[in-house]
Amino acid sequence: MNCDRLIIGGGASGLFCAVQSAWLGEEVIVAEHGKRCGQKLLITGKGRCNVTNNCDVQTVLKNIPRNPRFMYSALSRFAPEDTIAFFESLGVPLKTERGNRVFPESDKAEDIRGTLVNACKDAGVRFVTDEITELIIEKGVCIGAKSKSAEYFAPKVIVACGGKSYPVTGSTGDGYKLAEQAGHTVTDITPSLVPIVTEERECAEMMGLSLRNCTLSLFEEGVRKPLYSELGELLFTHFGMSGPLVLSASAHIGELKKGRYKLVIDLKPGLSRQKLEERILRDISEQPNKDFSNLLRKLLPAKMIPVIVKLSGIGGFKKGNQITAEERGRLADLLKELTFTVKALRPVEEAIITRGGVSTDELSPKTMESKLVSGLYFIGEVIDVDAYTGGFNLQIAFSTAYACANA
Ligand SMILES: Cc1cc2nc3c(=O)[nH]c(=O)nc-3n(C[C@H](O)[C@H](O)[C@H](O)COP(=O)(O)OP(=O)(O)OC[C@H]3O[C@@H](n4cnc5c(N)ncnc54)[C@H](O)[C@@H]3O)c2cc1C
Repeated sequence: MNCDRLIIGGGASGLFCAVQSAWLGEEVIVAEHGKRCGQKLLITGKGRCNVTNNCDVQTVLKNIPRNPRFMYSALSRFAPEDTIAFFESLGVPLKTERGNRVFPESDKAEDIRGTLVNACKDAGVRFVTDEITELIIEKGVCIGAKSKSAEYFAPKVIVACGGKSYPVTGSTGDGYKLAEQAGHTVTDITPSLVPIVTEERECAEMMGLSLRNCTLSLFEEGVRKPLYSELGELLFTHFGMSGPLVLSASAHIGELKKGRYKLVIDLKPGLSRQKLEERILRDISEQPNKDFSNLLRKLLPAKMIPVIVKLSGIGGFKKGNQITAEERGRLADLLKELTFTVKALRPVEEAIITRGGVSTDELSPKTMESKLVSGLYFIGEVIDVDAYTGGFNLQIAFSTAYACANA
């Protein structure tokens, strides 16, 4: 089969590149090995799709910890405001929520996926259900790609296979194999935006407990300033912690060594250490004959009480009026700095995003074309660029796709 542009992968970046290229008059084929295109889009933003972040380019760049400079050109030409205008012009009203996160007004990710697929179809993009296994490269030029049963020829071949996370959605890491076949360097693949395994067993004892309005800070050994600190929501699990704050914190974790990273939860961010101690004293004076564990009921969710009793070293049956000032202080410290040690990250398959990928040194930041093999392009998550949560990762997919379509 021949066309002007062969796109391998019908995810966020592949679909976006397909429609933009077709609008420019190219004949486009999208080869997608899954039953449906855009499977991952459907689970983004918990099914609501946080499609971009309503902010300027500088802010997007600040939210890209890995190779932000590579993204400068693509983002300057296709910024979040362009993403918003793109979807609204296709009849998807959007809304901006906390943290400038942009969602479809309908709260349905399907509206984003469906709009991209329909725009492609309307623009004449051809879809084939096929798994690409090999690039066709002749004399340093990519001229097509093949599957087990077909060959596709095009002067522009775009690898938009995504990363390795959530492989059920189709992103099984094939893009890295194709890149390596073309001689590209693929940097280490690790998970990012992923739940965290902790050393301590106490998290498992609180499994299922979700905390809202706590502050989570991530500290690195020997560094005073936290690498990350945010107010929000987290969840205790059988292995450690998950939830929005934890996923975001994970993006700041580098090479793991025993005891290197600590997660510190402030359970009472609205109260200073001093005010919290006063509050504890007040609770005790109101009911001096109550057991310590019962007194904690006013301060903490039930599932957390046995853990705090254990960690505080104050007996659960100790009466309020027997609790010493030193013990009250210890309790206040614990509630302001409940600390867990990072043992590991959950595997890349469970990550929102894959860190690592095709080395940015080997790609043109203006067009996403390979510097090693002409006619070959890489877009989206397969590239060694990743961002924090907030709609930035889809913006990377769209901006790199746009740069490539306009190459
Ligand atoms: C649970 C979850 C929630 C997320 N929420 C958000 C969010 O709200 N906002 C945000 O900005 N980002 C979010 N992300 C990240 C975002 O989904 C990705 O950054 C984005 O989908 C990457 O787009 P992509 O086109 O590079 O890859 P993908 O969307 O993964 O698409 C790759 C496509 O290539 C296909 N493919 C792979 N190999 C082959 C092959 N050999 N032949 C043919 N086809 C192939 C796959 O089937 C897939 O359809 C989330 C991710 C997850 C897992």
